[in-house]
Amino acid sequence: MNPYRLSESQLGTIARLADLADSVIAPKAADVDAESRFPSEGMRTLADAGFWGLTVPTELGGMGEGLRMTSAAVDTVAQRCASTAMVYLMHLCGVAAYKSSSDRMAEPLRAAAAGKHLSTLAWSERGSRSHFWAPMSQAEMDGDHVVLNGIKSWVTSAGHANGYVATTRAAGSDNPMAITLYLITDTDSGFRIESPWNAMGMRGNASAPMVMEGLRVAPSRALTDEGAGMDTMMGAVLPTFALGNSAVSVGCCEAAFAATQRHITGQKLEHLGQSLADLPNLRERLARMRLRTDQARAYLASSVDALESGDPTGMVWALGTKAQAAEAAIEVTDLGMRACGGAAFSRHLGIERVFRDARAMSVMAPTTDVLHDFIGKALCGMELF
Ligand SMILES: Cc1cc2nc3c(=O)[nH]c(=O)nc-3n(C[C@H](O)[C@H](O)[C@H](O)COP(=O)(O)OP(=O)(O)OC[C@H]3O[C@@H](n4cnc5c(N)ncnc54)[C@H](O)[C@@H]3O)c2cc1C
Repeated sequence: MNPYRLSESQLGTIARLADLADSVIAPKAADVDAESRFPSEGMRTLADAGFWGLTVPTELGGMGEGLRMTSAAVDTVAQRCASTAMVYLMHLCGVAAYKSSSDRMAEPLRAAAAGKHLSTLAWSERGSRSHFWAPMSQAEMDGDHVVLNGIKSWVTSAGHANGYVATTRAAGSDNPMAITLYLITDTDSGFRIESPWNAMGMRGNASAPMVMEGLRVAPSRALTDEGAGMDTMMGAVLPTFALGNSAVSVGCCEAAFAATQRHITGQKLEHLGQSLADLPNLRERLARMRLRTDQARAYLASSVDALESGDPTGMVWALGTKAQAAEAAIEVTDLGMRACGGAAFSRHLGIERVFRDARAMSVMAPTTDVLHDFIGKALCGMELF
């Protein structure tokens, strides 16, 4: 099977990634979760093997891939460790933002390809919550510098990233959607990570709040023209985020399916001389897990096709794939918990970790609620905002 319709050479790259993920990422997944620690070993391995440059243009040292390989790669990592996959995805989102202004951001792109620059997005704010398209923070001019103040509520890789793509309302504008994107680097002073990340799932994510207080940056750090950030956010970053987020969900589904299949085919009801797989309701749950996983991945692959071909409905597909895969992840991991009973409730099968991780995607913005509203509006010919 080749669900993402990859070329021979792309399949080879994904096989190499799967080997690395099996040998380094999967063995650490339980510890990363239990200790709520950043998946440093896995991310370093991806960096050293060139995967931080997956989507960086080849002329800047990267692999020059796009949404298709983003989906396949993130799915592959998520099957082994969802936290690592989400950290990797947020990096690819930062890279997508840099690429949209590659004339200004060639340096971080080169560094990402060389495995020396980990990126992320600092968009959600305490004030406007999941409505990331309406930051409350506002840039101010101070001489020839820009001053940033504000509280970013959840920043994946906070304290570990080298580059943070931050949104802020443009200086002097009272329009919340007149957004400028700035690159903040780990060498800047004027920001701090407020508190450690401690969540029910995605515990390796380090998605902590980040406070910017009088953070001064040169205007050359702007990724976009003043107030023109929405085009980059929606046109360049959202497709990567929506498809990649969908791929994390699909990877969680696959991990839950594999663990459930192993358990019900491997465990016995010795007093009856049967295996758990002899129970028809457990087989039915496994079948539903398989079908829903395949559906979610097929929808994702169709979304890649729609976006790559420039289909005018591409953005609706992108929003739709995030919503449907996030809900699939919740359904499939719940089925796995029910099929494996008390064994799943304990930690050793790994299903409860995936069950917890899988809750994240539907609350990551745009949340499933908001996506359903957006899609409904698009289908009724209404403006989204
Ligand atoms: C693991 C993880 C990693 C994250 N990483 C990042 C990151 O790297 N960068 C970043 O910027 N953010 C990140 N986020 C933040 C994320 O994108 C959301 O902003 C955040 O989860 C929203 O939580 P909230 O409590 O503020 O939601 P709220 O906005 O308070 O939403 C609460 C509920 O209201 C619903 N709701 C909200 N608005 C509407 C509406 N208009 N219509 C109907 N229902 C609505 C929501 O669906 C939700 O059920 C991350 C979140 C998680 C969980």
